[in-house]
Amino acid sequence: MCIFCKIVAGELPSTKVYEDEKTLAFMDINPVNPGHTLLIPKKHVETIYELDEETGKAVMSTLIKLVRAVKKATNCQGVTIHQANEKAANQVVPHLHIHIIPRWEKDYALGGWKAKPGDPEEIKKQADKIRNCLGS
Ligand code: AMP
Ligand code: ZN
Repeated sequence: MCIFCKIVAGELPSTKVYEDEKTLAFMDINPVNPGHTLLIPKKHVETIYELDEETGKAVMSTLIKLVRAVKKATNCQGVTIHQANEKAANQVVPHLHIHIIPRWEKDYALGGWKAKPGDPEEIKKQADKIRNCLGS
């Protein structure tokens, strides 16, 4: 069983903040900023690729409530929502989870990226490929 499934099953301790039939939210043990919370589907799903629509809707519904509560509770100036899939994206725990990270101006809590203009032809090419893959 993965560590987040163990948390769901009550076999590992966690600091829970919200729970319903399909979702669970608890505090990250390595908070990037105070109030850093994780949201998971109770069902074991490794990445977003395998997430079924019904569970996805339940996760999104909890996410909206949770983000508002985190914002109110921490009085933060912003919230970053982060969700990593696979090692290349820095996923460490193999159970889908969404990070809710309170942010303050200039907290430098997360690395950003520098925006640089892309090649318009390449952007169009990528869009065509994505459109072709939608619905397949
Ligand atoms: P990720 O890199 O997106 O897979 O993030 C995994 C997150 O899970 C990290 O931020 C960890 O600090 C957090 N984490 C790992 N184990 C636990 C645990 N037992 N309870 C709470 N958070 C955890
Ligand atoms: Zn799991």
